[in-house]
Amino acid sequence: MVIAKTIPRVRQEIARAKTKGKKIGFVPTMGALHQGHLSLILKAKKECDYVVASIFVNPLQFGKGEDLKRYPRNLSRDLRLLYNEHVDMVFYPNAKMMYSKDASTYVEETDLSKRLCGKFRPGHFKGVCTVVAKLFNIVSPDTTYFGRKDYQQAKIIERMVHDLAFPVKIKIAPIVREKTGLAMSSRNEYLSGESRKKAAGIYKALQNAKYSCRKKVTSGRLTRQIKKDIITSIPTAKIQYIEIVDPETLKPLKSIKSRALIAVAVYVEKVRLIDNIIV
Ligand code: AMP
Repeated sequence: MVIAKTIPRVRQEIARAKTKGKKIGFVPTMGALHQGHLSLILKAKKECDYVVASIFVNPLQFGKGEDLKRYPRNLSRDLRLLYNEHVDMVFYPNAKMMYSKDASTYVEETDLSKRLCGKFRPGHFKGVCTVVAKLFNIVSPDTTYFGRKDYQQAKIIERMVHDLAFPVKIKIAPIVREKTGLAMSSRNEYLSGESRKKAAGIYKALQNAKYSCRKKVTSGRLTRQIKKDIITSIPTAKIQYIEIVDPETLKPLKSIKSRALIAVAVYVEKVRLIDNIIV
């Protein structure tokens, strides 16, 4: 497994693989890897000939007061996991190299980014789009893999790729969950054992909502039901949002007549957890 820290090194390896006709698969991550990340790696390994993973905690996508400094980092464990999955190259740049002091160019998607998490995390998706665009230019993958756990992020990247004609295919993979149902996330490590158990209530609430959707139901009523379910299982939870939206435009729906995305962001013990379900 090649561990590349610089752009020329990545490009050299990719050029070599491409001359051999290999299809490049790419999985961008912020590290602190878990089975959710590894499911993307596995899919990439199945579908591509040469798989690159990046590990980069991107400062540009963290707002003031967010957890950039304390975001979990565990490089040696991550490298071991990637090595075990036979990843071909890990790109592990540092922030100085990714963003020079005089950098003044950003990539911003301006429609989907305003919805859901975008309302509460100004600049977040601009940071995501900028780093992903740069990573695409460095790795030049044929196919890249994102998780449905970050549904809005995946849709924004799809839009960016379409709007700017990046020559890359996007694949979106299902959410991997802990045994309890809690969506796997690097941030789950912040939770105490007790809260981690209780946090499974978020998924239970989403599943109940999916069940309620078998009949026609208004978004208002469904939202109230989800809120009640979450608070019942996690009394200390602070709900940031519960939204029922069109899965393509992310615009709010008044009632559920066909496919809808239910997305939630909830603070449990000051840890921001997101989850979603398609109904
Ligand atoms: P992150 O390291 O949190 O930036 O995530 C890197 C990639 O892994 C993103 O495409 C995420 O959507 C994806 N991912 C994170 N958690 C999960 C999960 N539980 N199931 C599936 N994909 C995930």
